[in-house]
Amino acid sequence: MQQNSAPPDASRLRILCSDAAHFSVEKSALQLGLGTAAVERVATDAGALSADLLARRTAELRHNGFEPIAVVATAGTTDFGAIDPLAAVARIAAQERMWLHVDAAYGGALLMSPRYRHRLDGLAQADSITLDFHKAFFQPISCGAFLLRDAERFRLIRMNADYLNSVENEAEGRPDLVTQSILTTRRFDALKLWVSLQTIGADGFAGMVDRLIALAEHAAARLAANPRFALLHRPRLSSLVFRYIPTNPATDANAINAALPRRLFGRGEAVLGHTVVDGRAHLKFTLINPCTEVSDIERLITLIANAGLVEEAAIRSQIHVSAPSLSAA
Ligand SMILES: *Cc1c(COP(=O)(O)O)cnc(C)c1O
Repeated sequence: MQQNSAPPDASRLRILCSDAAHFSVEKSALQLGLGTAAVERVATDAGALSADLLARRTAELRHNGFEPIAVVATAGTTDFGAIDPLAAVARIAAQERMWLHVDAAYGGALLMSPRYRHRLDGLAQADSITLDFHKAFFQPISCGAFLLRDAERFRLIRMNADYLNSVENEAEGRPDLVTQSILTTRRFDALKLWVSLQTIGADGFAGMVDRLIALAEHAAARLAANPRFALLHRPRLSSLVFRYIPTNPATDANAINAALPRRLFGRGEAVLGHTVVDGRAHLKFTLINPCTEVSDIERLITLIANAGLVEEAAIRSQIHVSAPSLSAA
């Protein structure tokens, strides 16, 4: 079958997403041969894509001779768990005749919860969706899916090889993964998900997802009540971004927050998440194990607070040690 590569004027094509979207948007643009310059990141409003700014940027791009072809909305950003306003983004995508892809790698698991699934309203308008089952569906890595609203479009990646998935095999209805995937040789990743769905059931998954969200709310309340911590946001999924606040405001909080995950990891005490927000080091919980108990979180918070005090003392002693040598020089 004849396949087309990028047209000569592909440099005019643009893909819009929020500035909190995953870096895989750029990676995908690279793989498409468009280059990372094809990705236009739009500012977020409280962590989620601003529909107004999206509409404005799309109009600007057209005005400047570019061709906005797709928008990637995120359902559950990697740091804050923010969910873009999917219904509003879908309306803009439809008006502007852009492909709507929803990156639901993390937040897609809310679909399993009758209690929280409304947070994904608008998802059904997507032309394509990514879902990671190795995140809040609790499967071992790796297990992810790319879904198309119009399954017929999978023919675009269809290739037949006589030695693997011959047309005759297909005609006889013999299933294979070669025809269903960008990879050729791949494991039957769907098997574990299928077994989990059969044994745990939709209700079981709903309970685990709800439990993660409740756990994040408990953790948020504990952090908010502790003067050693500042929480950056209310939890939206199961991730929390926060900072350790030194007892002495003159202490370099950035150095402490950058050092804490390394200290806890180095001592074999905890693998603490970290990220950078507005150029400053932050700490992060990504709660993704439904067996975690509130008491585990409380112990971890105490551990981090104590390690913070130790780190503060270490920084103070460094200052004392270096001060005399400075004056000696
Ligand atoms: C984890 C994640 C990805 C990447 O998924 P992998 O399957 O780990 O490659 C993409 N987008 C979001 C929002 C994610 O959280």
